[in-house]
Amino acid sequence: MFENEKNSLIKTCRDISAKKLTVATWGNVSLRVSENKFLITPSGMDYNSLIPEDIVLMDFEENIIEGSKKPSVEYFMHLCIYRNRKDINAVIHTHAVFSTAFALNRIPVPPVAEEMIQIIGEEIQCADYGLPGSRQLGENVAAALGNNFAVLMASHGAVCVGKDFQHALKISEVLEKTCQTIIYAKILGNPYIIPHEECEAMIDFTKNKYGQK
Ligand SMILES: [Zn+2]
Repeated sequence: MFENEKNSLIKTCRDISAKKLTVATWGNVSLRVSENKFLITPSGMDYNSLIPEDIVLMDFEENIIEGSKKPSVEYFMHLCIYRNRKDINAVIHTHAVFSTAFALNRIPVPPVAEEMIQIIGEEIQCADYGLPGSRQLGENVAAALGNNFAVLMASHGAVCVGKDFQHALKISEVLEKTCQTIIYAKILGNPYIIPHEECEAMIDFTKNKYGQK
């Protein structure tokens, strides 16, 4: 079942590894394949050795529908996000260096760069701490995500979401680039916080006027 979807999930795992958004077996990736089912990476397996049979199919009642491997320890976090957000079909959890630097300080990513505001959210929150794999962590992350497309996990990493993998991967790259830029900007001075009204105008522009549609 869902052979193509499993292959695109494996490709996404290799993409996040190649783009240095995570190392070794850290991070996890999932894809909603129906109203109440999703595919997720197995726990602690090297992304380069993954084959479609390793990918676990789960339902929203936390049952394993298909697959002999143990699902990612963070499966509940992915589930909480899908339950809260009907518009989201893909979730990528990374340990990318610069976004994790914000997460270690447990501070939000401020609205200083227009790229981030336009496609991820005005301010990216840092979810309260929860032990890895705990239900508390899943609930904290889904709550702090709100209607944005990314959220930080305190002392841990980042979660980026999208309507599909291509979208979620773009969010992951823009979040990481923004965090890197802010850290450099702080060396030079004090990055300017873009006022709320300007953020709203920017979001509206991207939604309704930008591009070829
Ligand atoms: Zn992690």
